[in-house]
Amino acid sequence: MQRKKLMAANWKMYKTPDETRGFFTIFLPLVRDHDRDEIVVCPPYVDLATALESVRGSNIAVGAQNVHWGKEGAFTGEISPTMLLAVGCTHVIIGHSERRQYFGETDDTVNLKLKAVLETSLTPIVCVGEVLEEREAGLTEDVLRRQCTRAFYKISAKKATKLVIAYEPVWAIGTGKTATPQIASEAHRLIRSEAAKTFGQEFADRLRILYGGSVKPENAKALMSEDELDGALVGGASLDPKSFAAIVKY
Ligand code: PEP
Repeated sequence: MQRKKLMAANWKMYKTPDETRGFFTIFLPLVRDHDRDEIVVCPPYVDLATALESVRGSNIAVGAQNVHWGKEGAFTGEISPTMLLAVGCTHVIIGHSERRQYFGETDDTVNLKLKAVLETSLTPIVCVGEVLEEREAGLTEDVLRRQCTRAFYKISAKKATKLVIAYEPVWAIGTGKTATPQIASEAHRLIRSEAAKTFGQEFADRLRILYGGSVKPENAKALMSEDELDGALVGGASLDPKSFAAIVKY
């Protein structure tokens, strides 16, 4: 099945509003006529307004890197799905491995966040992936199955239409080690089969599964040529406008 690829940038904790403006000044002209794939940039919260202003009228969407599951409340430092929508975001990353590793996110909070986001028109990008010890111990399939089952808990196919998954093997994030196209495809097939179990085959055939982990201009073509890979979630290499444009146009 032909699925339109989604090329997403995760800027992590990088760039000020001025640097955000500077990025788009260079990036926009490079991808102006590019309509083969969808493009989304996820900057830090404080840059959202500048990013949204910079991309106005273009083919580029803006997303957040995290979200809380509540609508509002006494949750210091948190941002709700409704708030993201109100400023103009269309996408949000959920359960990135750095959130799981350093900020106590679990499969259960990922599920709460996903459920809350699916009540809105935001597109959730849910990250899953094994750490190196799990891969070396032959546990990759178990980990991916568990992360998917728990993320999808009590969510219907009808609600989940906008769901996007990002397979990000943690050993490949920011390390310069990329999964081979074959390793990535294998994991994507497993994730797709988990989605089929929960949501049905038709849903799974339409589901976009992105690959993330040291995607660079040099390896983007080989990865994106795999039928199973429906786009990329790019960290480090998305900070430079020329490099992210080269990945988008692989
Ligand atoms: C990421 O942060 O989602 C990521 C994949 O990072 P990098 O591309 O730097 O490995």
